[in-house]
Amino acid sequence: SPVPDYLDEILRACGDDDGAPADYIPQLAAADPERLAVCVSTVDGHLYASGDADAAYSIQSISKPFVYALALLEHGLDHVLERVGVEPSGEAFDELSLESDSRRPLNPMINAGALTAHALVGEPGDDADARFARIHRLMSDCAGRELDVDEGVCASEMETAYRNLAIANLLRSYDVINQEPLDVVSGYTRQCAVSVTTRDLAMMAATLGSGGRQPMTGKQVLPPEVVRQVLSVMMTCGMYNAAGDWMSTVGFPAKSGVSGGILGVLPGQVGIATFSPRLDAHGNSTRGVRLCTRMSADMGMHIMQAP
Ligand code: GLU
Repeated sequence: SPVPDYLDEILRACGDDDGAPADYIPQLAAADPERLAVCVSTVDGHLYASGDADAAYSIQSISKPFVYALALLEHGLDHVLERVGVEPSGEAFDELSLESDSRRPLNPMINAGALTAHALVGEPGDDADARFARIHRLMSDCAGRELDVDEGVCASEMETAYRNLAIANLLRSYDVINQEPLDVVSGYTRQCAVSVTTRDLAMMAATLGSGGRQPMTGKQVLPPEVVRQVLSVMMTCGMYNAAGDWMSTVGFPAKSGVSGGILGVLPGQVGIATFSPRLDAHGNSTRGVRLCTRMSADMGMHIMQAP
């Protein structure tokens, strides 16, 4: 049938082996570099998959838009904007930097902003477990099933989380967050270690694509205005320092992660997910970028393209 055949074909065509898996988290360096998958889900829940669509990996930075969404849902846009901005940073995702006047992290897709969004979740007295429980609930609701945590990846990343601890300490010193930095980093690291398949990511993408309604369960997980804000930030800041290049060539909001996933959204139409662990110089999955570029061109998915 045409859609599965098309997905099989683009997997064959995008299979070059340039780039390398991330190695700064020891467990990620052990990923099978040959894994490759693509899934597309319509906003009414028809899912098409090709390749290793059921292979699981840690979600990493693709958790960031969902945690930002949760902070917005719980506290509203104005409150969140006071603490995390929406400007592309032009710096590495793990840069130790804040806006010089307001001390806000520039946006919620870099680690400084993601740690702040993580710390905003929940009630003032909540500990890392309580915050994680809310985050886990939201991500599972978007996926339409109960997601697991990859404890090996979580422990491995905590062992070498020096930079995220430095960022959290900087945030604490300026009162951007008011919890213990170690507590925030451990909750954030757990959020990054949530285990997903490419099928899950496509369903999570389709939930954003349908204005917050999970296509299979029918549950309105997020309000449309929160989703609009999240997709806007993904559009400008979602692809590390290749966001401008991505916007002009691929042209739909997306978020990538260091384990090799990319989640993309064509609002009102489809959720897209790709997976391949080898990364390019920007930290985006090499084959994933190629797959998305190809799908965008073949199907006319660039949102700036007049019909
Ligand atoms: N947990 C990773 C970190 O904070 C996520 C990085 C990423 O996927 O960009 O370093």
